[in-house]
Amino acid sequence: MSDHGRDTSPHLAVLDIDGVLADVRHRLHHIAGPRRDWEAFFDGVSADPVLDEGRAEALAAATAGLGIVYLTGRPERCRADTVQWLTAHGLPEGELVMRRDADRRPARVVKVEALRRLSETREVAYLLDDDPEVLAAAASAGYRVRAAEWLPRGDAGGETGGDALREAQETLGRS
Ligand SMILES: [Mg+2]
Repeated sequence: MSDHGRDTSPHLAVLDIDGVLADVRHRLHHIAGPRRDWEAFFDGVSADPVLDEGRAEALAAATAGLGIVYLTGRPERCRADTVQWLTAHGLPEGELVMRRDADRRPARVVKVEALRRLSETREVAYLLDDDPEVLAAAASAGYRVRAAEWLPRGDAGGETGGDALREAQETLGRS
């Protein structure tokens, strides 16, 4: 699964990774303080535990015949680690859409743009994401959205963890 596949199915389940499939809490401390170490934050992706609820959603979508697209705010430089992680955790093959390395725009902007691009050739059945801002933006743009609510936000890594998770998702990659 070197390229993690490229699905040609017309209807797509578009799945976020961080906070939906991957438990990022163990690396939030890298970006929780005044000195944010984004390099370390992204270097830690291989150690993310899989979130069973998210994996079940992904497998159900694949079983239902939907094409799988992983749409993540992670930068392209995390591609190899991310493909390896998806494979190692038994997630279905799918297209992996990542943020360009120099792209510092908010996730809600980058992801809606990606949904529009996907929609040019295929139909997006729904977006599954855990970021309220992304979900709101995608819904406003006319996409069906589903909220992944299984990663406890208020419990995300201690005193600043919840805020760090929220900020990471909104400004992922900003340094
Ligand atoms: Mg997320």
